[in-house]
Order: sequence, then structure tokens, then C-alpha cells
Amino acid sequence: MIACFCGQPHALGRRALLASAVAAAATAARAQSAPASAGPADPVLIEELVAGNRILYDQNVVDGFGHISVRHNKDPNRYLLSRSMAPALVTADDILEYDLDSNPVNANGRTSYLERFIHGEIYKVRPDVKAIVHSHSPGILPFADTGVKLRPMNHIASFLGDGAPVFEIRATAGPETDMLIRNAALGKALTVTLGNHPVALMRGHGSVAAAQSIRHVVFRAIYTEVNAKVQAEALKLGKPEYLNPKEAAAATKANDGLVDRPWELWKRRAMAKP
Ligand code: MN
Repeated sequence: MIACFCGQPHALGRRALLASAVAAAATAARAQSAPASAGPADPVLIEELVAGNRILYDQNVVDGFGHISVRHNKDPNRYLLSRSMAPALVTADDILEYDLDSNPVNANGRTSYLERFIHGEIYKVRPDVKAIVHSHSPGILPFADTGVKLRPMNHIASFLGDGAPVFEIRATAGPETDMLIRNAALGKALTVTLGNHPVALMRGHGSVAAAQSIRHVVFRAIYTEVNAKVQAEALKLGKPEYLNPKEAAAATKANDGLVDRPWELWKRRAMAKP
């Protein structure tokens, strides 16, 4: 509403219109920097995400570092991820919503994980992926750093297929990075290495696992670590006989229907702890 009491309504009106246009532009800029929320996520999904955080700590996949996200149930262009904190301490109130460029929707002063771009960029290119884990679990590091391929030792780790690819950050960003996926370009480069695989290792860093649900991705993150330890032991004895691609595909199909069984066990143990 433009009001003028000086007898020159048109001149002041123009000035007021200009001020109003500037205010509108500022509002638009604010709207751009804080994307719209998809609305409250399903509380059951939030509860699963909290449990996933606790389980991954209890199973030695994450420690003070690492994170798990899930795609929003109301909007495939949004995902849910804890604010920057140790996974074992995450509660429902710590879960933030992000757009796929990894801008927080509802941060309200809370800080975000530096490496959230891992999640946003994978969700952009993999519509089949509904949940992602990033970790630095120690068992996989020998395979991330030596060129020895991580391959399935048994049917439970069959999702590793013909072996996990390894992301080399130097190929994208040169030899002087801090190794972190701290922007969208590095996240995008990681998705190229991941391709259609469920797991990729990251040289000098850790790994990422992707799957169709929180339960599936937790299963994969845990058994990637277990498999790495078993494979390292086997390599001391001789040349392991890995699952072949047909065995791996058939076993993965069977396992995908069985993830609830270990989930309930892991959850009971992890949630019983303070
Ligand atoms: Mn990391």
C-alpha cells in the first residue's frame, strides 16, 4: 500500500514502488537461499534414520565421523540427514531436510556436515537410491589404498558384485585437497565412480554405500566392513575364490528380502545403549 501526504503523490509513489520492488527482490533472494520444505517427513522414517545412526556406531561402521541419509518420503528432490554431530548421539530433533544441491531447508542456525554433497549428488543421478551411508570404517581402508579390489567373500556380501570401484579425488581436484567431498563438483565426480554399484571406496578416505532403503543400506555398510576384514585375512592365506557375478546376483536377490532379520537384532542392541 503506497501512502503520500505531501501533495506530490506520483513522485513519492514512484519512490515507494521502487522500495517495494527492492524489498520483493530481497524476499525472492532469501527464498532462493532457503529452499521450500517438502513438509514434515513420515515419523517412522525419521525413527528409522535415528536407529540407523545408532546401529552404524554400535556395529563399528561410523565413529565420531560418518553419516547416513534417506530420501524424503514426500518429495524425491529432498533428503533427510542429521545436523553435524556424532551419529551415536543423533535424535529425531537433529534431523535436517536438504534439497539435492545440499542446501539445508530448516537449519535454524544448526551446522551441516561438510560432506553432505555425497548424498545430494548421488540422489540426483540414482533414482533407485533411497538411502546412503558414508563412513571411514577401518577394515575397508587397505582396499581403498592399495589397488587390491574388494570382492564378495560370501553370499551375505554378494552385493559387492564384481568388486567395489575406488574413487580417486586427485583425478578431479589435483594432488592438494584435504580429501573431503566438500562441494557439489566433487560429489558429482564420486557419483561417476559409483556408477550403478551399491558401494564405492574412496582412496585415502573411506567409502560410500547406497541402497533402496535405510535397512538395506545399513546392511550393506556393515557387511562391506565385515567382508573387508575377512578378505584381508584370506589374502594372507592365499588366493581367495570369490563369488562369481551370477552367484553374486542370485545371492543379492535372496538377501534383499532378508534385511529385517539382522536389522531388528542390531536395533535392539543399539537402542538399549544410553
Ligand atoms: Mn568423510
